[in-house]
Amino acid sequence: MYNVVIVGSGCAGNTAAIYTGRANLSPLVLAGHEPGGQLSLTTLVENFPGFPEGIDGPVLVENIKQQAIHFGAEYRHAQLEECDLSKRPFRLRIDGEWIETRTLIVASGASARWLGLPNEMRLIGKGVSSCATCDGFFFRGKKIMVIGGGDSAMEEANFLSRFGSEVTIVHRRDQFRASKIMLDRTRANPKIKWLLNTTVEDIFDVEKGYVTGVKLRNVQTGQLWDQEVDGFFLAIGHIPNTKPFAGQLDLDPDGYIVSHGGARTNITGVFHAGDVQDRTYRQAITASGAGCMAAIEAERFLEAEGH
Ligand SMILES: Cc1cc2nc3c(=O)[nH]c(=O)nc-3n(C[C@H](O)[C@H](O)[C@H](O)COP(=O)(O)OP(=O)(O)OC[C@H]3O[C@@H](n4cnc5c(N)ncnc54)[C@H](O)[C@@H]3O)c2cc1C
Repeated sequence: MYNVVIVGSGCAGNTAAIYTGRANLSPLVLAGHEPGGQLSLTTLVENFPGFPEGIDGPVLVENIKQQAIHFGAEYRHAQLEECDLSKRPFRLRIDGEWIETRTLIVASGASARWLGLPNEMRLIGKGVSSCATCDGFFFRGKKIMVIGGGDSAMEEANFLSRFGSEVTIVHRRDQFRASKIMLDRTRANPKIKWLLNTTVEDIFDVEKGYVTGVKLRNVQTGQLWDQEVDGFFLAIGHIPNTKPFAGQLDLDPDGYIVSHGGARTNITGVFHAGDVQDRTYRQAITASGAGCMAAIEAERFLEAEGH
């Protein structure tokens, strides 16, 4: 029987593990399909406090993990497959085995949607990004492309126009999901150009090790052409990793956990942390802060229950 099981080994889960470890609760962390979470995909992180020169994303998240292990956290390279949260202790199925826990911290993140192009993954952190707040600063005076047609694409394009010499929005249709107010604001931005009815077929240049351009296709005429670009930003949404909790935890229509105040979910003893609940900020520091909150809530809950 565990006191705390933490689902996810990104910034949120690892920070929750530090706090619950230091509270002598011997947490178990399930690392999941992406050990280290989204930061393990990127290169330089310049906005996590405490690192004046910046720090590599995978190093940062591994450091947080080592700090948690130092305080007694146990890590398993395992995936939560299903769970029964109808009564306490909660029951979790992990790689075919059922385990029990008094509290659960869900820090399973929200994965960015990618286009699925072969070169895309090879160039993440080298010009390909899914986070304008995180990486816009690297593209001062450069050519930037934003993929998407929703509010987040408009928001990212406007934000990135502070840095880039030009920003081109590429959208596969000529109709937008974005709200009128966001579209109007974006259309009024002189630095933003538009390529509609256009899809991205490939990204270059893996051999050089950074983004130099893309191959585009006009879906109406079939015309193919190459275009130079330095920064390639995906803004086509995120998928919260909440499948094992569907029907038990309150989720919003997009699948994000609905908070019931602080780090609490609708189920007493189950807490949320990080991007799995936060669709607004999506930063390493906010995820870590949320991990801290969930851990303190779990610790107080266990104490009140006499554990
Ligand atoms: C390319 C890129 C660059 C970024 N750069 C920055 C930056 O410079 N600065 C910044 O502040 N933020 C940056 N971010 C955002 C930052 O990475 C996220 O906000 C942060 O990682 C969220 O942390 P999290 O712990 O909530 O979720 P995640 O990091 O997404 O971690 C989720 C964890 O849950 C696990 N998991 C999921 N499902 C299961 C399951 N069923 N069972 C077990 N485990 C499961 C996964 O394996 C993973 O370990 C970047 C993101 C990306 C994609």
